Formats: sequence, structure tokens, C-alpha cells
Amino acid sequence: MNIQPDLEFIRYLKGVGGDTLKKCYQCATCSVVCPLSKDEKPFPRKEMIWSQWGLKENLIADPDIFLCHQCGDCSEKCPRGAKPGEVMGAIRAYAYTFYGWPSGLAKLASSAKGLPVMIAIPVVVIFLMWLLSGGMVFPSAEDFAHHGYQQFFGHWDFRWYAKNIFFIVCFMVPSAAIAAFSAYKGISNLWKALAAKNMMNPDFRPSAIQFTQKFLWPSIVEIIQHSRFRECTTNADRIRGHRPLMYAFIGLLIVTTWSLVANDIIGLWIAKFHGPMTFWNPVKLLANVSAIALLYGIWVLWTNRAKAESESGITGNFYDWFLIWEIMAVGATGLLAEVLRWAGLIQIGYIVYFFHLVAVMMLFLYLPYTKFAHLIFRTFAIAFDKCRESSFGTDILKK
Ligand code: SF4
Ligand code: SF4
Repeated sequence: MNIQPDLEFIRYLKGVGGDTLKKCYQCATCSVVCPLSKDEKPFPRKEMIWSQWGLKENLIADPDIFLCHQCGDCSEKCPRGAKPGEVMGAIRAYAYTFYGWPSGLAKLASSAKGLPVMIAIPVVVIFLMWLLSGGMVFPSAEDFAHHGYQQFFGHWDFRWYAKNIFFIVCFMVPSAAIAAFSAYKGISNLWKALAAKNMMNPDFRPSAIQFTQKFLWPSIVEIIQHSRFRECTTNADRIRGHRPLMYAFIGLLIVTTWSLVANDIIGLWIAKFHGPMTFWNPVKLLANVSAIALLYGIWVLWTNRAKAESESGITGNFYDWFLIWEIMAVGATGLLAEVLRWAGLIQIGYIVYFFHLVAVMMLFLYLPYTKFAHLIFRTFAIAFDKCRESSFGTDILKK
């Protein structure tokens, strides 16, 4: 067999946490101890040899790299100290950038070198919006107490559409739309690569409804229940961080959706829906509880990662830390802005709120290139795995 190693890819893996891969001597202990690896399709031993050989095309189209939950059991038991769990993580990080769209943004978000530009983009956009809106005037203490940050971009005497909402929609909706389209492009490219490289019965053609019912929905349920995480032993503690984080995201999604509907649709007819909400408003309470769950979850993940790094002696990379810091920034600036509002500190409150908007826009815009991509790619990889297995069965679509 003529093997064409991709040396740049090998260098990349070494640079982002896979630097121990050359130690592997293919004993397969890792595949045996991995709680998620199946006997008929074991991993991560094969991924270790493919990585040593620089077989990039095989690795990025390998569903097993997404099925790995980076529990660390294999790294713990490897007799050569080769850290296959970290190698799998490094391959995934490469895959998210490879499938990312637009590629320039995906590359920018893949390393710390791009961070100044990543921060500068929302800072410039929001600052320009603030300038254009004519809202760069601090409110009176009375207005601040009554409206909070609802007049950050100023206000106009136009009952149908609040000025603040208009300007926030101007940059948040395009950011979210880019992220959603990017996630769609990434998943569709991944699916094509998985289908091309991994044998699937060509006559097996589920409809969109069948695919959702039989494969996608059960995968989503598995992810929500964290059932695969529970099988890991070395990093079993991670579930304590992942769960509150996931519920926080669901809570904040509900809050954001409601805010959009209340502000942008109902608010057109009933002006009081433009806000601000009182502290005891159920949506406000959900937002605050979600923010606390978000900070708690991310704190658990942060301490776990720091502990794992100090125990293994492996320094974390930008990809491992970016989402943690980003979520911290969103939660901390959001809570601080609210505390400053209660305290009546207008100027500093407005500055913190500005950075809160920057952090939220960064979260939207760069989400598909962060570790959050796990959630989307892993869900579809699990669905692909179920679909591929069923494709050789006879009657799953008839049930
Ligand atoms: S990574 Fe370690 S446990 Fe796995 S095959 Fe290589 S040497 Fe063996
Ligand atoms: S990190 Fe855990 S799930 Fe991933 S290959 Fe190793 S043992 Fe398996």
C-alpha cells in the first residue's frame, strides 16, 4: 500500500495536544479499555496509527472520532503514556475547522493568534452601531433605574419598534444566521464525507421523517441524558459540569426566543412588552437561574480541565479553553451589568453592558468553531452510526 503522509497534519496534531502520538506501539489496550468502543468497530488504536501515518482523509471521515467522549480512560491505561484521548480531541478540533464555513472565520477561530481579530470584529461592529444610533449618552439615574439598558442604543418616540431592539437585531440576527448556516454546511459536508468513506447500504434511503424518528431523535435523547458519559470512569466528574451547562443553554434559548417574540412581535402592538422585565418576571428568573447554572457548569469544567492538565503535564490548547472563557465572559458580564443596574452605577454599567454585547456576539458568531461544535457534530455522528448499522438490517423502516 502506498501511504502518503500529510506531514503538516501530523505537525498540527502534535501542536494541539496530540504530541504523544509517536509513543504508541499498537498494543490495543486503549481500544479494550474504552467504554464506548464496540468490539466489531474498535477505537482509538486505529486512529493512533492513522495519525502517526498522517492519514488525514481517513481521520476526518471517521465517525469514531466523534463518538469518543474524551473521558480519558484510554490515556490513563496506555502503557506507553501515549494519551490517545488527547489525540482524538486534536483530530476532532481539526475536523471542526476543516468542515467549518466560511473557512476564513473557521481558521481564525482555531488558534489564539486569531483572538485579537476575533474580539476586534464585534467591538468595532457594536461601537459603530452605538455611534450610528446616537445613543452614546448616559441616561439619568431615574431613567437608568426604570429602563436599565433598554435605551443603550437610545430611543425614539415610535411605539411600534424600540430603537434598542432594532440595533441589537441588526448585529445579533446576522451573527446567529451565519452561525446557523455554518453549522448546516459543516454537518452536510461531514455527512457526505462519512457516507463516502464508510460503507452504507446504497439501497437504504430513509425519508427525512424516518431519519428524524429512527436515528436523529434517539441520538438527541442520548445526548440529553448523557448516557454515554456515564460509562466513562476517569473523568466521570465531567457530567457534573456538562449537565448544568446544557440546562443553562436550554434556559437561555427559551429566554432569547421569548425576548425576540415579546420585543419584536407582541411589542409592536403592546408597548409594555418592550421591557424591561421586573426581577420577579418568570422569564427574568429563568434567565438569572440559567446564568448561575452556566457559571457553575463552566466553573466545574474549568477546574476539571485545570486539574487534568496539571496531573497529565499536558498544556491545554486554545481550542480546549476558548469556549470556557467565552461562556465565563457572557455569564460574568451579564450578571455584573445587572448588579451595576441595581447599584445605580450608570457609566460603569454601560461599559460592562457594551462588553456583554461583545461577548454575546462572539458566542453566536464563533459557536460553530468552538467545542460547542461537539454537540452538533457528535449528535449527527451518533445518528450516522445508527443509520449505517440499520442500513444492513432488513425492516427497521417498516417498524
Ligand atoms: S495508544 Fe497506548 S494503549 Fe493504545 S495502542 Fe498505542 S500504546 Fe497501546
Ligand atoms: S477518551 Fe474515552 S471515549 Fe475516547 S477513546 Fe479514550 S476511552 Fe474511549
